[in-house]
Amino acid sequence: MKIFCVGRNYVAHAKELGNDVPEEPVIFMKPKSALLQLHTPFYYPEFTNELHYECELVLRISKNGKYIQERHASKYYNGLTVGIDFTARDIQNELKKKGLPWEKAKSWDNSAVIGKWIDISPELNKKDINFSMYKNKELVQKGHTANMIFTFDQIVAHISNYFSLNIGDLIFTGTPAGVGECVVGDELEGFFESEKLFELSVK
Ligand code: ZN
Repeated sequence: MKIFCVGRNYVAHAKELGNDVPEEPVIFMKPKSALLQLHTPFYYPEFTNELHYECELVLRISKNGKYIQERHASKYYNGLTVGIDFTARDIQNELKKKGLPWEKAKSWDNSAVIGKWIDISPELNKKDINFSMYKNKELVQKGHTANMIFTFDQIVAHISNYFSLNIGDLIFTGTPAGVGECVVGDELEGFFESEKLFELSVK
């Protein structure tokens, strides 16, 4: 199982971190060990002093493929959830400054959180999905798929030009504006429309 992540897929988020709006998707990966298993506590990692949440929609790949065309891409995923791409922002800033890879900031154990899966039905309008995250019952991030720079289908097609996609692979599709810090004791809740898909406390 592979975990792909898209960086800078919302204009407002790219700008809040001082980045340019990309011309093609920015892709990075997390290993399988990054996935927080169900009913496992999440611990604040000891190597960072600036842990950021990034709430994102996550796709579940349901069919093996390579060189997938955009117009066929929707046949390759069947599940959607809300998750967190946890980021050690202090480490990422250091790595970015030096032009080094991001893995130490992004791909550590349990840095990928996913919620309960929603099956993608033909009736679901993928251009009109609201998702959000609350920290300690306060709204901190609010996303809408119409504001994505690259659509689900474009992302799947693009990734498959470089990597084969396999059943069970996950794609974090980027975070909207409003990323921020969390500390021990924070309670995070992720919503797809009005349905809560995950809750997590930082230990
Ligand atoms: Zn992210």
